[in-house]
Amino acid sequence: MAKNLSFSYSKMGMYKECPQKYKFRYVHMLPEQPKYYFAFGSAMHAVMEFIFDPARPTFPSLQEALQFFDVTWSKTTFEQKGYASAEKELAGYAEGRQIIESYYAKNASSFVHPLSVEMKSTLDIDGLSLISILDRMDYLGGGKIKILDYKTGKTVQREPDQLYMYQKVVENSPTILKLVQTKDPAVKEVRVEQLSFYHLPTLQEMTFDRAPDKEIFAFWQKVLTIADNIRAGHFDPTPGESQCRWCDYRNLCPVFTGKEYTGPSGYGAKITPPAPAVKEMPSTQEVLSEKIDRYGSLVEELRRLENEIITLMRENKFERHFGKQYKAELERIEKTTFSDKTKVVDLLRNLKLLAKVLVPTQSTVTALLSDPTVSADAKEKLKALAKTCEDFSLHIEKAD
Ligand code: SF4
Repeated sequence: MAKNLSFSYSKMGMYKECPQKYKFRYVHMLPEQPKYYFAFGSAMHAVMEFIFDPARPTFPSLQEALQFFDVTWSKTTFEQKGYASAEKELAGYAEGRQIIESYYAKNASSFVHPLSVEMKSTLDIDGLSLISILDRMDYLGGGKIKILDYKTGKTVQREPDQLYMYQKVVENSPTILKLVQTKDPAVKEVRVEQLSFYHLPTLQEMTFDRAPDKEIFAFWQKVLTIADNIRAGHFDPTPGESQCRWCDYRNLCPVFTGKEYTGPSGYGAKITPPAPAVKEMPSTQEVLSEKIDRYGSLVEELRRLENEIITLMRENKFERHFGKQYKAELERIEKTTFSDKTKVVDLLRNLKLLAKVLVPTQSTVTALLSDPTVSADAKEKLKALAKTCEDFSLHIEKAD
C-alpha cells in the first residue's frame, strides 16, 4: 500500500505560492533561512502554552510568565532567530514582554483552562497524513469545540484555508474525539462551533462561525488536487515579484539560474541566501530618529531588567549571582533625605553652616553629616531632621 503523503496547511500554502519552492523545501529537504517573525511567533506561542497548560491546576503569575519568556528567548542567539542585529532582537524581546504584560492586564481575571494547548494532531485521511498544531481548543459542551489560533504578525486577516483545514481535522480526528470524551463520555461526534484568530500584538479576536459542509467539501477537493500534483511531481515554478523577492532558493532556482537544480539534498545541505535587495540610503534625519528610538528603547529595557534583577536578588537574599558570562552584585545603600526644607535651612543658619553648603540640596546637606569640620552636636541636630531608607545599586561585570 502506498505511503500517505505528509501534508499540512503550511505545506499547502507553500505549494500554492510556488511549486518549485515546495520542491526545494520538501523534496530536496533544503532548510530555509531562519526568520525572525517565526522565532518571535514561536516564543509567544510557547508562552501561551505555558500560561494555559491544562495539566497545571493554577495559572502562572505575570512574573512567572515573563520569566518563562526570558528563558525561552535566551535559548537562541539573534542570528539563530533570524534577526539582523542584536538591537533588533532586543526590540523583539521588549515587544514580547510588553505583549505579555498587556495580555495579563486585559485577560488575567478571566483565564479559564482550555481543552488543549498546542495539540499536535496527525490525521490519516484520503491518502494524506495531515499534520496540524492546534494552538488552543475550548470545550463548549455537547461535543462542540472552539478553536483559537494565535497570530503575531503585523496584521491579521481571515485565512479561509486555515479555518477549513482546522475544521476538517478536528471533526474527523479520533484522537480529538477521545479527548472530548474524557470530558463528556456521551459525545459521539465532535463539531466545530467557532474558529477564532487572536492577534496578540493588538489583543483583538476575530471570530468566525463554522464553515458550511459545502465549503469544506470544495476546499477538500482543492487539497486532494494539490496532493495529486505533488505525487505526480508537478513542481513548475510560478515566479512573481512578491514570492521571489524573499525566497531563500533564488540562487538555486531554474528561473534565475537557467538550469534544473541537481545539487545536494537533505537537511545538512547548505544554501546561499540571495543577495539582499538594494535599499535607498536613508536621510540623516531618518538615521538620527532611528538611533534616538533605538537608544530610548534600550535604556527603557535596561531599567526594566535592572529592577527585575534587583527584585529577584532581594527576594532570594542573594548578594551576588552569576549568569553564564556576567556576574551581578547588589550593593545596599543607606539613603538620607530631608523632607522639611525650611527647618533644614533655619537650622543651618543657626548653626552658621549655611555658607558651607552654598545651595542646600539633599546631597550637600547629607555631605555635612560626614564632614570632619562639622561638630558632633551639629550633626546630631541635622540627623534629627533626616529620614533614612535603604536603596540598592546593581553592579554587573564580566565574570572571571
Ligand atoms: S525564486 Fe521564485 S520561482 Fe524560484 S522557487 Fe523561489 S518563489 Fe519559486
